[in-house]
Amino acid sequence: MQTKYIFITGGVVSGLGKGIAAASIGALLESRGLSVSLMKLDPYINVDAGTMSPFQHGEVFVTEDGAETDLDLGHYERYTHTTLGRGHNCTTGQIYDTIIRKERAGEYLGRTVQVVPHVIDEIKTRIIKASQNVDVSIVEIGGTVGDIESLPFLEAIRQFRHDTGMDNTIFIHLTLIVFASEEMKTKPTQHSVGKLREIGIQPNILICRSKAPLPENVKKKISLFTNVPEQSVITGLDVKSVYEVPLIFHQERLDDIIVENLRMWTRSPKLQEWAEIVDRFKNPLGEVNIAFVGKYVQQKDSYESLNEALIHGGLANHLSVNLHYVNSEDIETQGADKILASMDGILVAPGFGERGAEGKIQAVHYARTRNIPFFGICLGMQMAIIEFARNMAGIPKANSGEFTPGNPDNVVDLMPEQEGFQETGGSMRLGGYPAVLKADSLIARIYGSTEISERHRHRYEVMNQFVPKLEQAGMVISGRHPERHLVETIELKDHRWFVACQFHPELKSKPFKPHPLFASFIEACNQYKSERTSDT
Ligand code: GLN
Repeated sequence: MQTKYIFITGGVVSGLGKGIAAASIGALLESRGLSVSLMKLDPYINVDAGTMSPFQHGEVFVTEDGAETDLDLGHYERYTHTTLGRGHNCTTGQIYDTIIRKERAGEYLGRTVQVVPHVIDEIKTRIIKASQNVDVSIVEIGGTVGDIESLPFLEAIRQFRHDTGMDNTIFIHLTLIVFASEEMKTKPTQHSVGKLREIGIQPNILICRSKAPLPENVKKKISLFTNVPEQSVITGLDVKSVYEVPLIFHQERLDDIIVENLRMWTRSPKLQEWAEIVDRFKNPLGEVNIAFVGKYVQQKDSYESLNEALIHGGLANHLSVNLHYVNSEDIETQGADKILASMDGILVAPGFGERGAEGKIQAVHYARTRNIPFFGICLGMQMAIIEFARNMAGIPKANSGEFTPGNPDNVVDLMPEQEGFQETGGSMRLGGYPAVLKADSLIARIYGSTEISERHRHRYEVMNQFVPKLEQAGMVISGRHPERHLVETIELKDHRWFVACQFHPELKSKPFKPHPLFASFIEACNQYKSERTSDT
C-alpha cells in the first residue's frame, strides 16, 4: 500500500500548538476510517528528551517501548488510537549519533561525510521507517521556519515530496494572525510562507491561528500572496478546550481538503465521540477541587499528561476538575491544613530530587489521617510508603535512597543490581511493564482485572524487606511485578480512597477512554465533597 505523508511546519512564533494540530488531524483522519501514524522531528542536539529539564522542555513522554520523548507524542497518542515508539521521535542528536558511529565504523568508504546527502538521507530513512503499514503518516517538524537548526529537516521533507510524488505528500503550515488593535494582520503569515518557499516548499494548506474567524477577504489576500488556494486557508480558531480542535478543523473542511489533496477516497467522518467530549467539557454537572502537589507546578507543561488524565477523569463523571497547583515547599512553610483543608482530593505527583519531599510527605499524612481521597503517582507512591513507614510501621527514620543514600531505613532505594549505575540514564525502569493485582483489592475492582500493564519512568523501588512491617500496620500491597515481585501499587483498607502506584497511568488515558484510576479517583472526590457539604 502507498503510504501518504502530511508534513506539518510552523512559522511566525513558536508555541502555536502544532502538536495539537497534528494530533487533531490524526483524529480526523481516523474518524474517516484511515489508519495513521504520527512522528515528531526535533531539531535539538539532545539524543532524547530524557535529559532535559521539565522546567525548560515540559513533560518527558514515555512510550510503551521505553523511549523518553517529546511531549507532543503524548498529544498524538491521546487524540488517536496509535501506540507510538522510539522511532516516532527523531532528533538531530540521533541523526548525528548514527552518522558518526557509521563513519567511525568505516561505512562511508573514504568519502567525505556531509549534511547533503548523508544527514538528509538519514532523516528520510527514519521517516519511512516510522511510517510502515499505515494509510497516512503525519510528520511534525519542531521549531519555527527560519531557525538555522531546522534547515536539514526542511530540506529532507522537500526532497521527500520530490521522491514520493505530489499526490502522496502534502505540506501544512501553521501561522499566526496578528491583531493590531482589532485589525487582522497577515504580513507575518506572508513572510513565513515566503521563507518556506525560499527553501523550495510550497505549502498546500495554511492553518492560521487566530482569535477570530478569518473573513473571506483576509483569506483571499493570504491566498494571493502565498499561492495557497483560498479554500485551503483555514482558521485555527482559539478555543477553550484543546479537544475542540478536531471539530473546528472539520468545520473548516480541513479533513476534506487533506484527502482531496492526497487523492484519497474515504467514508465521511464519524465525529460523535468528539462532539460528546466537547459537550461534557462545556456542560459539566458539577466540579471538584483537587490539590495537585508537586515540584514543577509553575510550569504546567511538565505534567501535561497528568493534567489531561485528571480532566478525562472529570469527563467520565460529567464533572469539571479544578486543579490547584501546590508547590510542596509551601506546605512545609505554611502547614498542610492551610493549603489543603478545602480540597476534595489530594494528588501527589511524580518527580525527581529531594526539594519539597517533606512537604509531599505531609500532604500524604494529611490525606491519610483525614480520610481525604488520595492518589499518589510514582514519587507520590514512594512518599506514601515513607509516610506510612514513619508514622504507622515504627520506622521513624524511613526515607528514600534518592534523598538519604546509605540510610539503613531507606524503605525506597536502588535495587542491589542498580548500585553504581545511578548517574547513567541506564538504571531507569522505562516503558511498559506488567503487574498482577490482588483479586480482592480496590485497584483490581477499578481496573476490572487482575492483570494490567502500565508505563514506568523511575529508578528507585520499594524495598521488600520492609513490606511485612508495612502490611502488619495495615497497608495493602495490592499489585506487584509478576516475576521480580517489585511493589507496583498500594492501598489502605480503612480509607475512603487511598491508592498509589509506581507507574504512570496518565500516559495511557485518552479523552474518549478515560483511564479507570482517574475516573475512580474523581468519582471518590465528588462523593467526599457531597458527604462533606451535607455534613455542614
Ligand atoms: N524520583 C523517583 C525515582 O526515580 C520517582 C520518579 C518519578 O516520579 N517519575 O524512582
